[in-house]
Amino acid sequence: MGETTIEMARAAINAAQRVIILSHERPDGDAVGSLLALTLSLERVGKNVTPVLLEGVPSRFRFLPGADKVKTDIPSGGDLLILVDASDLQRTGFPIKTLPRQPDINIDHHPTNTDFALINIVNHQASATTEILYDIIPQLGLEIDTEVATNLMTGLITDTIGFRTDSVTSRTLEIASELVGIGAPMAEIYARTLNQRSFVSAQYWGRGLNRLERENGILWTSLTVEDRELVGYPGSDDADLVNLLATIEGIQVVLIFIEQVGGKVKVSWRSRPGVNVAEIAFSFGGGGHEQAAGATIEGGMQEIKERVLTATRGSISLSPEEFA
Ligand code: AMP
Ligand code: MN
Ligand code: MN
Repeated sequence: MGETTIEMARAAINAAQRVIILSHERPDGDAVGSLLALTLSLERVGKNVTPVLLEGVPSRFRFLPGADKVKTDIPSGGDLLILVDASDLQRTGFPIKTLPRQPDINIDHHPTNTDFALINIVNHQASATTEILYDIIPQLGLEIDTEVATNLMTGLITDTIGFRTDSVTSRTLEIASELVGIGAPMAEIYARTLNQRSFVSAQYWGRGLNRLERENGILWTSLTVEDRELVGYPGSDDADLVNLLATIEGIQVVLIFIEQVGGKVKVSWRSRPGVNVAEIAFSFGGGGHEQAAGATIEGGMQEIKERVLTATRGSISLSPEEFA
């Protein structure tokens, strides 16, 4: 990251008193961890910070230090707007016209990031946005204490699914080691974020598992609003089913279609190296990484399934990789 970009961010932060920080809708551990790490480190130097998530903090992340500070409405009157782990302006889930200003600072690791802010701190090589924050928090004149470290570690552990993705580098592991040194409770974060699910999540998975379909190297299923109502699942996501499906052998691409209220479908892709699903997601207005991407598409389930599967088949036939 260029010196001047960080210096500009540092100057903008120094000049600001009321800071608003946003991340993406259906927040994952990197979204929540980045949001809270930056919030706490800015509060320590006397800033008035409001972290905002459209749907609040999902229950499995409520143990994180600072989680109780998160609001679900954007306050008026902030003088600095920061977005973390969001690749474009739509990602916060709030209508763009309700954002208080053009974002001042954009901190992210998605290759599909659109550089939408005045100051863009984007590193595609980072395994998580919290990996970038680990380096820039000190450069911004802020401190990483145990509570900040806990949030940073949560982003690393969740975005890499426990250091299992090929986005993990020796630097990722070095940072993880340093965060443990600062007091981040790695085993607890692992247990709470990756190794623990509610009974209703399992019931919700069951509905999706019943509809599993496979064709050549593609595996997919869907989850509906009715599924969530029937089992009492509180979120609007897939309860991480896509990552379970991604462990099934002989598959090149996994997709999950998650019906949303208001005539939209959230699509998640996971792929083996050789199939770039970020490109497919981007063509549907979404984004992500080569091996993990998503898009929220307007329309009905059936029609979207057909369009998305056609595009996905196209990308597989372009790749010579073998599949069972
Ligand atoms: P998910 O499938 O939601 O777990 O997301 C996989 C990756 O794709 C993550 O890096 C997300 O940030 C990204 N992603 C998911 N949905 C969208 C979207 N609607 N627009 C842009 N990126 C997305
Ligand atoms: Mn994320
Ligand atoms: Mn991330």
